[in-house]
Amino acid sequence: MSMISYVNGQYLPEEQATVSVFDRGFLFADAVYEVTAIINGKLVDFEHHIARLQRSCHELQLALPYSSEEIKQIHTQLIERNNINEGLIYLQFTRGNAKQRNFLFPDKDIQPTLVLFAQKTNIVDNLKVKNGIRAVTVDDIRWARCDIKTVALLAASLAKEYAKQQGADDAIFVKDGIVTEGSSSNCFIVNQHGQLQTRGLSHEILPGITRKAVLSLAKEQGIAIIEKAFSLEEMLTAKEVFMTSATTLVCPVIKINHQKIGEGKPGNIAIRLREIYLENTK
Ligand code: PMP
Repeated sequence: MSMISYVNGQYLPEEQATVSVFDRGFLFADAVYEVTAIINGKLVDFEHHIARLQRSCHELQLALPYSSEEIKQIHTQLIERNNINEGLIYLQFTRGNAKQRNFLFPDKDIQPTLVLFAQKTNIVDNLKVKNGIRAVTVDDIRWARCDIKTVALLAASLAKEYAKQQGADDAIFVKDGIVTEGSSSNCFIVNQHGQLQTRGLSHEILPGITRKAVLSLAKEQGIAIIEKAFSLEEMLTAKEVFMTSATTLVCPVIKINHQKIGEGKPGNIAIRLREIYLENTK
């Protein structure tokens, strides 16, 4: 049975869930998105995802004519209608259908496009993630506003495809010798001093919701934290490396560019933070 999606006020089966070829999301990537995990039928960190969506819209002068409550309602409806216990809800909000191709924002008020769909996927018992992944590094060729969660994901897609062709599971972006973030995640290391290190927020990385949650859990656990950029070299010689994202939570990295990280197995801090994070979603 096909899944039910949401398109501008309507709940529709997959075959009918369509948008116009003139939609600015399609033509210009003039659109923002969010991915929220569902664990045990419940949305994880929903309020933070909405806050980031509002921020992304603000940065693009994109008015969002829906309240947090309305957007939450749609998420809940999709969980119920598709009977999702574990998986994700994808939300995309575009500047809408301008009925032509024109780079400039449309003059008159057009209806923006709001699309949401659900996907079932293993989050808690994702074996690949639990056992640790192999990554390769790639040049960060993305634009200069990676803090805005836009749908312009071609660089990430190319990076993931390159990783696959190299026999790896994911890619990590590096700019001028400094690690920025994962292709769809934030990057953490446990450095030589035993501190948990991740780079500070800037235009160069997405302010990850899982990053934020993990930093606050680590703080509660009394783990020493430092928000500071690190080099590729520091990452390769770190005691642990892990990535964070809504759908992989805390994902240990055991090999980078064919080089073992630490002992070549998931590190203790990554395992502990993953467990505590999961505990908190109950
Ligand atoms: N950085 C990038 C580039 C991403 O695409 C993502 C996931 N969308 C993240 C970080 C992680 O963000 P979150 O924890 O909110 O999923």
